[in-house]
This record gives sequence, C-alpha cells and structure tokens, in this order.
Amino acid sequence: MASNGVDEIKLVEGPAGYVLEDVPHLSDYILDLPTYPNPLQSNAAYSVVRQYFVDEDDTVQEKIVVHKDSPRGTHFRRAGPRQKVYFKPSDVRACIVTCGGLCPGLNTVIREIVCGLHFMYGVTEVIGVDCGFRGFYSKNTVALTPKTVSDIHKRGGTILGTSRGGHDTSKIVDNIQDREINQVYIIGGDGTQKGASAIYKEIRRRGLNVAVAGIPKTIDNDIPVIDKSFGFDTAVEEAQRAINAAHVEATSVENGIGLVKLMGRYSGFIAMYATLASRDVDCCLIPESPFYLEGKGGLYEFIAKRLRENGHMVIVIAEGAGQDLVAESIDQQDASGNKLLKDVGLWMSLKIKEHFAKQSVMDITLKYIDPTYMIRAIPANASDNVYSTLLAQSAVHGAMAGYTGFVSGLVNGRHTYIPFNRITERQNKVVITDRMWARMLSSTNQPSFMNPS
Ligand code: ATP
Ligand code: MG
Repeated sequence: MASNGVDEIKLVEGPAGYVLEDVPHLSDYILDLPTYPNPLQSNAAYSVVRQYFVDEDDTVQEKIVVHKDSPRGTHFRRAGPRQKVYFKPSDVRACIVTCGGLCPGLNTVIREIVCGLHFMYGVTEVIGVDCGFRGFYSKNTVALTPKTVSDIHKRGGTILGTSRGGHDTSKIVDNIQDREINQVYIIGGDGTQKGASAIYKEIRRRGLNVAVAGIPKTIDNDIPVIDKSFGFDTAVEEAQRAINAAHVEATSVENGIGLVKLMGRYSGFIAMYATLASRDVDCCLIPESPFYLEGKGGLYEFIAKRLRENGHMVIVIAEGAGQDLVAESIDQQDASGNKLLKDVGLWMSLKIKEHFAKQSVMDITLKYIDPTYMIRAIPANASDNVYSTLLAQSAVHGAMAGYTGFVSGLVNGRHTYIPFNRITERQNKVVITDRMWARMLSSTNQPSFMNPS
C-alpha cells in the first residue's frame, strides 16, 4: 500500500474482512516523501502526549453507520502532525488569503495558521494577501507575525479583507511563483475552494513544490462531508437575539407576528438549528422544504390558526426559502457569478400584511427583523474559536508534511484531510426526510405545507 498523500481511500473486501487500497492517483496529493524530522519531536511539552504523531496510514471513515452488507465507503486521511515533514521550516514562505462573504472565525483561522507555523514549526515568513484572490496580483501583501495577529480573534470580519470575483488562475500562480511562496492557505466557501482547486491543479501542472491547503468557510453550513463549518455555532447563537426580539415584539401586541430572516441561500441549517434552540418559533421555512401561502393547509391558514390559539407567533425564514413564490425574479448575479436572491423576508412581510388587511378577519401587527449583517460580522464564540483553531492547526500540519490539494475538516468528530473535489462537487442540504427535520417539526408543530389543495 502506498503511504503518504491526501485522498480518499477505497476499501475493498478481502479474505480477512476489509482491507485498505489506495486509489492510483494518490501521488497527486503529496509533493514528495517527507524527509525532515518534525521539529515538534524535540519539544518536550509534547513528549507526555501518547500517540501525538499521527500514523500516515490512519484514516477516518466517512459513513459511521453502515449496514452490515454494504461497502464501508470512503475514508479520509486523519489530520495531525507527522513524524517527518516535507518542508524545512527555514525554507517555508507561506501566504494566507480570505475570499467570499464574512463569517465568524475568519480571524481566528488566520491567527492560528500564523501562530501554528511560528510556534510549532519555527516558520517566520508568513504573508497575508489583501482582499481575496485578486489581491495576489492587484494589491500589496502584509507580513503576518504572532504579534500582529495576537488579538484579532476578538474582532469580527477578516483583517486581510475579502472580495468576490477576480479569480485569474494563471496570474495567481505566476504571482505565487514570483514571490517564491511554497505554502498557500486559502480560507473561503464553495466558490473559493473551486478557485483553490484550480490553483492547486495549475501548480501541479507547472511542477512547483507548493502545498495548497483550504479551510472551508460557510456560515450556512452548506459544505458537504464535514460535520459542520466554523462560524455556524456562533451564527445560531447570535440568531437567538433576533428571534427573542421578534418574540418580544409579537407578544407585546394583539395578534403580533415576528418575522425573522436568517442566512441560508440553499441550505436551511441556521434557520432549523436556531428554531430548535429557541422554542419560541411557531414556523420555520427553509429552501429545502417548499411551502405555499393560499388555501387549505397553506401558510396563511396556519398563521390565522396560531394567532387564534396564542395571540402571537414567530416565523423564521431562511433567505433562500420560497424563491419560487417570489414572483418577479431579478435574474442578476454577483461578481463571482452567484445568483442574486430576492429578499424573501421583505416580500413575505408585505404578503402577510396584505392578506390579513384584505381578509379583515383580524388585525395583525407584523415586525420584520433581518439580522444577517449583524450576525456575519461578530467574532466567533468560544466553541467556534476552539474549532477554528483546530482546523487551522490541522492545515498547518498537513502542509508541513507535504500534503497538497486538500481542505482540513471534521468528519465524524475526527480531523481529516479531504480532497478539494469532494467538497465542491455538491452542497450540504437539510434532508427533510431525515430525523433532524422531524425533530424541528415536532418543536414548532407546524404543518409540512406539502400538499396545496
Ligand atoms: P460564500 O458564498 O460563503 O460567501 P464563496 O467562497 O462561495 O463564499 P464566492 O464569491 O462565490 O464566495 O467565491 C469567492 C472567490 O472564489 C471569488 O474570488 C471567485 O472569483 C472565486 N471562484 C468562485 N467560483 C470559482 C470557480 N468555479 N473557479 C475559480 N474561482 C472561483
Ligand atoms: Mg458560495
């Protein structure tokens, strides 16, 4: 069996049960065999840790629950420090770039890459690229040291700046070559990781000894394979403040409705978890679960029923929900080519007000809250700070070992190295036939809105 490298490993059944078989293109994910002893070996602080170094053949299984007769499926390399590293620390010149929308934890990841490289491996040359991919060729870079990043995790946003669009693979790799950078850390969402994959492929095509490591960022939790993305916990927690405010508004008047729009362009995880956490929400609407407004079993009927029962209600809607209902589609795209969505929260608040005014059955008071930019801009909470730290440290260990073309991610509670293509080929979505959605439904006791009459 080939050792080293980052890729999925196919498991095939052998005479003695399941045996590991590396996929043939495994060498694509390793620069070369590591030859230098890991400097961590001489650090007495780690000597008390049993099995501190990860065996290069250790893997983590993607599917934890499998039927006894079905194949065991994909495994990923387990992340962590290796006994030997590929890069001599004094030769390392690393760079960090952040792209896409803001997310709590970005600054923590930047901080921990810098500090991880510096304190664990003695790497002193780390530069930050200004304002996303286009910063590689249009802007200056900044030197990053443990001192300059020491308290950035307490701030929201990204100290490096970010942008959409402006990805020119060839120019970016030219710049990496010109600056003699040999480790590239790319923090961003699905678009960013597609860009990172293109950079990685071009670097391989040119035969450069440059490690490319991604740290997936998505506040919506819409990246597949990984257990959850950093910033998600913070977003769910901060969303509680908006839901609480909506609840206070709704309960302070007769027939009050509080409507809260939360992030989630294609995946309703924030809305679903924020609803489950709050218990004040009467109805949660997400992109994965279609709904309708009029007629029997529709949303208007449910609102009237809840108001008659309780005198108030709170609705949480994910930004990508009900886009099919929002009549005039504004067929526009942002600089990265993402479809611009219509503001479903504003649209829905107008529709509900219009409906009850027309019906003159009951007078309602509706307050609409959109906390999106308040949530995106806050610093990570304690749990996301820990998580972001571990993701960054894993990425540093992987790049130092000479792995490339991977993102660091948590799979079934274990840190792993996942090839780019595995996280960019599809999106993580709420599966409405799964138990979690059923748990959410049982907390709100809302109808499924599935069958318009
Ligand atoms: P989020 O959607 O969570 O805010 P994202 O990383 O998906 O984050 P985008 O604006 O879609 O955000 O993309 C970020 C960067 O990645 C942009 O600079 C964009 O040009 C680049 N990018 C997006 N898609 C691709 C692609 N298919 N190939 C190369 N680069 C891409
Ligand atoms: Mg995206």
